[in-house]
Amino acid sequence: MSPQRLYLRQILLGPMANFVYLIGDAEKREAMIVDPAWDIPALLRILDEDGMKLTGALVTHYHPDHIGGDLMGHRIPGVPELLEQRAVKIYMNKEEVPWVKRVLGLESSDFTPVDGESSVQIGDLPVRVIHTPGHTPGSQCFLAGGKLISGDTLFIGSCGRVDLPGSNPEDLYDSLNRKLKNLPEDTVLYPGHNYASETESTIGREKRTNAFMRFESVEDFLRTMGYG
Ligand SMILES: [Zn+2]
Repeated sequence: MSPQRLYLRQILLGPMANFVYLIGDAEKREAMIVDPAWDIPALLRILDEDGMKLTGALVTHYHPDHIGGDLMGHRIPGVPELLEQRAVKIYMNKEEVPWVKRVLGLESSDFTPVDGESSVQIGDLPVRVIHTPGHTPGSQCFLAGGKLISGDTLFIGSCGRVDLPGSNPEDLYDSLNRKLKNLPEDTVLYPGHNYASETESTIGREKRTNAFMRFESVEDFLRTMGYG
């Protein structure tokens, strides 16, 4: 697919500096929301203004700042509010389904589970799903047209926390240093939060400058993360 056909918008939303992404096929005019949360009407309005039809939503992981739900006594709008507006498929890693159900109180039938071998089609755009456990058991990244939407697995200059329910630091080491590190160097990185001075990077740059992708061994990684 030509670069011009890739529809990709990075939208900063909410008080936790979340990036929500709209991704799709600019020619077929179909798009999905990655991590629908914080302001569903605003996201649907942007799609409408761009003339894009919403065909689904992709979930990177279960945390309420990415999918909605209760967080420290505050109700964050997300997937349930999206489903009230549009009856679209919600794609998430199969390992994440029980966690998402707990956070949102929805049924399994509301979700379409995928795994690390899956590809999701948006118009003529194939989106490759990469299972990257560590931050959560079913964390996943989405690769399309040379762009990687990485959720809370890989940030610019850092990586996701591993001290939360379902986190596993050894899994995160593998996800960063075995899976994501093997992607082409010019893969453009789009993280789940605006935690750096820039809003995008590349896998090549992170391999050179991000300490969490440069550990020789899982032991060194764990020590830096505060384990052992
Ligand atoms: Zn998270």
